[in-house]
Amino acid sequence: MQPVVPENNANWTRRALLGFAFVAPFLALYLGRTNLVIALAPLFVSHVLLLYATLVPNSQWWGPVFRSFRTTEPEVWLTIDDGPSPEHTTKILDLLERFNARATFFVIGTRAEKYPHLITEILSRGHEIANHTFTHPSAMFWAAGPSRVAAEIDLCAELLRSGPDRPARFFRAPAGLKNLFVHPELQRRKMALVGWSARGFDTVRRDPANVAKGILRTAKPGGILLLHEGHRIAKDPEFNPRCLQLTLSGLAERGYRCVIPQPEQLGS
Ligand SMILES: [Zn+2]
Repeated sequence: MQPVVPENNANWTRRALLGFAFVAPFLALYLGRTNLVIALAPLFVSHVLLLYATLVPNSQWWGPVFRSFRTTEPEVWLTIDDGPSPEHTTKILDLLERFNARATFFVIGTRAEKYPHLITEILSRGHEIANHTFTHPSAMFWAAGPSRVAAEIDLCAELLRSGPDRPARFFRAPAGLKNLFVHPELQRRKMALVGWSARGFDTVRRDPANVAKGILRTAKPGGILLLHEGHRIAKDPEFNPRCLQLTLSGLAERGYRCVIPQPEQLGS
């Protein structure tokens, strides 16, 4: 399958953000000659804008983020983050098979390295693998410099490359937080950043029914659904599979199919 390269329709916001961040200190110096409080305003606004672009998961201010795909059918793109996990991956694959659903697994490189047989199993059962960084540094990825961003992408990509013709096409940042260095690195590798349009907050909520309800409430044709695996293993090992099962049965009741979009269904 050909790599999908999103059109960089968000380039102007990127330029505007960086331009304003550059100009703001000079503006502050100029305004500071008359009023110190007013002088701080451009710096404050600039910082707020930079933080919004970085810390709001589906913000497109730094560059394009796929949040849906084009379809006229009742179909959605199910994405499962943070695997593979020996506790959940096989159970999840069995559930997907039972509901005749396909999914994209955004996997963590270190886990792929540890459980390569699960990567093989995901692929052999008709699903797709995507890049979710090598170490999943969720607390600091938003502040990572270009070399760390590149290393997180490349080390994971290397483990996922099952053949020269099958690189992982998609990337998702840990917790969806991406900074100004992520898009240029992805563009260089002909990869695309994928966000989501529906999630049930399964890393926060404790009741699988609430998780499924949250996803189903916001699911719509062409939507990208976000679930996780490998979480709460000690306290509630059935939590992640149960969230998936309730989501899949709710989708089936509503006539939805879970598909992996074709390249022409993505982008603007
Ligand atoms: Zn994650």
